[in-house]
Amino acid sequence: MSKPLTLLTVTASERLSPGMVRLRFHSDDLSAFAESTFTDRYVKLVFGDPAALDRGERPVMRTYTALDPDTDAGTVAIDFVVHGDSGVAGPWAAAAQPGDTITARGPGGGYAPDRDASWHLLIGDEAALPAIRQALATLPSDAAGHVVIEVESAAHQQDLPVPAEMSLTWLHRSAPDHRDLEAATRRLDWLPGRVHAFVHGEAQVVMHGIRPYLLKERGLPRADVSISGYWRQGRTEETFRQWKAELAAAEGDA
Ligand SMILES: Cc1cc2nc3c(=O)[nH]c(=O)nc-3n(C[C@H](O)[C@H](O)[C@H](O)COP(=O)(O)OP(=O)(O)OC[C@H]3O[C@@H](n4cnc5c(N)ncnc54)[C@H](O)[C@@H]3O)c2cc1C
Repeated sequence: MSKPLTLLTVTASERLSPGMVRLRFHSDDLSAFAESTFTDRYVKLVFGDPAALDRGERPVMRTYTALDPDTDAGTVAIDFVVHGDSGVAGPWAAAAQPGDTITARGPGGGYAPDRDASWHLLIGDEAALPAIRQALATLPSDAAGHVVIEVESAAHQQDLPVPAEMSLTWLHRSAPDHRDLEAATRRLDWLPGRVHAFVHGEAQVVMHGIRPYLLKERGLPRADVSISGYWRQGRTEETFRQWKAELAAAEGDA
């Protein structure tokens, strides 16, 4: 069955940091989100003609985490990384005004923190920050674990609802002694018991750096690790899809 389409109207725009804009949306019918309990629930924003989907074609779409959908109020928010003039969604979000509309396809999703895990590992860059925020909001106040987030500089940090017993590490890409997400992940204190991990961000770092560390070196079961690239440096979402297909094919061959 094809995924539902929801027309969203921008109601407000707010700068969360120099590199991120939150758009709030209203919809007369947000019922597509009613059953969605994943904290990484995402939609495909349709920048091309949505009617193309009915013709079996693929219009230009971009993937974003849908935050705090309220089906009664008809409200939902999306936090967009604004990464300069390149691309479709980033520049659109930076310029969006109340009254602008966009069609969202979905939602999909696959992760919510497992309450039975002994501790939680939440790792990502700006693109995953919204999904990490959403996951943190569902954790009990006594949850244990680590959060590691890479942003450009201290000005890009955001307040997050981190439970008191969890550590929060901000990495600054612009810092001279910068350690990237993989290096920072390797330096974390490994806690006892079963860990449930959510690791997303720039694809090369996540899939070729952190994934082998968690799955091979640490031996975590695949089912306890939500891990994927959310974007790829130097690639649009279309050419990144090709990168993912090539990686999957190479691993299938391995
Ligand atoms: C499940 C999922 C959920 C996601 N949730 C979010 C979210 O909530 N918020 C969010 O901002 N992104 C999120 N992303 C990432 C987002 O889909 C990509 O960043 C997307 O490429 C942005 O589209 P664009 O049109 O702005 O740029 P594109 O046209 O895709 O790319 C143009 C250029 O910009 C670069 N670029 C793309 N993204 C970034 C970035 N984040 N930082 C720096 N350079 C970049 C590309 O490498 C390319 O060179 C998510 C991705 C997935 C798969």
